[in-house]
Amino acid sequence: MKQPVIKTPLPGPNAKKLIKIDQKYVSPSYTRVYPLVVDKAKGLWIYDVDGNVFLDFTAGIAVCATGHCHPKVVGSIIQQAKKLLHMSGTDFYYTSQIALAEKLSSIAPGKGDKKVYFGNSGAEAVEAAFKLARWHTRRELNIAFYGAFHGRTMGALSLTASKTVQKRHYNPLVPGITHIPYAYCYRCPYNLQYPKCDIICVDWVENTLFRTTIPPEEVAAFFVEPIQGEGGYIVPPPEFHQKLHRLAKRYGILYVADEVQSGMGRTGKMFAMEHFGVEADIMSLAKGIASGLPLGAMVARSEIMSWEAGSHASTFGGNPLSCQASLKTIELLESELMANAAVQGRRLMDGLLAIQQENECIGDVRGKGLMVGVELVQDRETKKPAADLRNRIIKSAFEKGLLLLGCGVNSLRFCPALTVNKNEIDSCLSIFHDIIKTTR
Ligand code: PLP
Repeated sequence: MKQPVIKTPLPGPNAKKLIKIDQKYVSPSYTRVYPLVVDKAKGLWIYDVDGNVFLDFTAGIAVCATGHCHPKVVGSIIQQAKKLLHMSGTDFYYTSQIALAEKLSSIAPGKGDKKVYFGNSGAEAVEAAFKLARWHTRRELNIAFYGAFHGRTMGALSLTASKTVQKRHYNPLVPGITHIPYAYCYRCPYNLQYPKCDIICVDWVENTLFRTTIPPEEVAAFFVEPIQGEGGYIVPPPEFHQKLHRLAKRYGILYVADEVQSGMGRTGKMFAMEHFGVEADIMSLAKGIASGLPLGAMVARSEIMSWEAGSHASTFGGNPLSCQASLKTIELLESELMANAAVQGRRLMDGLLAIQQENECIGDVRGKGLMVGVELVQDRETKKPAADLRNRIIKSAFEKGLLLLGCGVNSLRFCPALTVNKNEIDSCLSIFHDIIKTTR
């Protein structure tokens, strides 16, 4: 079984030199959690500039759906690069963008025609959804959730409610957004228990919010992640989306599913909202959509995407290379990887649940497919968050050659490429098992 190989102290001598230059020239706003300087990568394996080999359970923040440098994706990028690098879908037509729009429209859940807007990132996909929701409804207010991460451009940031550091000194943001509690059942904001709670978090919107401060007929959209990502890989109960969606319909409010992190096969279905049986009006996509090339897409029913020429666009959005990479990515997801995500996700989840049995510091294990979160606590009784322990575990994992990322205050996320195999899952579980036993 292939294992990580760590042959230098970390960071190694070459990494150290490069980090020094980085610190001089690169924006200090980035949050580098450990000193990994990547040279090359293949599948789930990362080779750093000192020859150390790491097992990647981050997929470049849930982006490299087909694994690093999948030969078929690289092949389609090379082919496209020889033909056309850029022309701008804003002012011209080209085949790759048209083909991808047709493909995304056909796989987006729900009957009826859909249209696609192309940007370069998740934030741009959300930003576009935000503008379209206002444009289409002519309503000024929006509702989003605590814990949500929708991106960092001013509109998307206004919808985000993840960490104050992301907002500090940037106010005033876009007005008219109200944040409400998400269905975070492990820490129910109403101190109730599912299913006895009867999903009161949605009733509260109608019975309190809409009666006291927010006229529902002025609300353009609910912005909601099917499964909260940066907020802690939080899976709501199925009735949450169903009930909130019904409420939205009653008041003519659009349902915007931010599938940037949860979409593109990661959860074992093409879109995470499919697990909940809800068809959103608008969907934002990015991350896994093009296996690492920059691409964001906003998909909406055709009657909703009725805005006029000139009302929104982006020079680079839907670049030919990204569109080709995306078409190949979707082909691979459909033919094998989505099914693999479901199978290997189950193996990962079962392994983590078994580790939880022996370790009091694991409060909760949750997820769908290969979007799996582990919440760390000081003890299971009080559920006091163990944020420092979480950070120490991430550091120890790095030192042992396993790449993990955090999410929320005290959770770990496991989001490997959808190409992950049984041996790689087992290798991750065995390293994690050792670390959790020894890190205090
Ligand atoms: N929406 C969600 C759900 C995300 O997880 C992210 C990024 O983590 C974004 C939007 C923003 O995407 P990007 O960083 O590509 O702008």
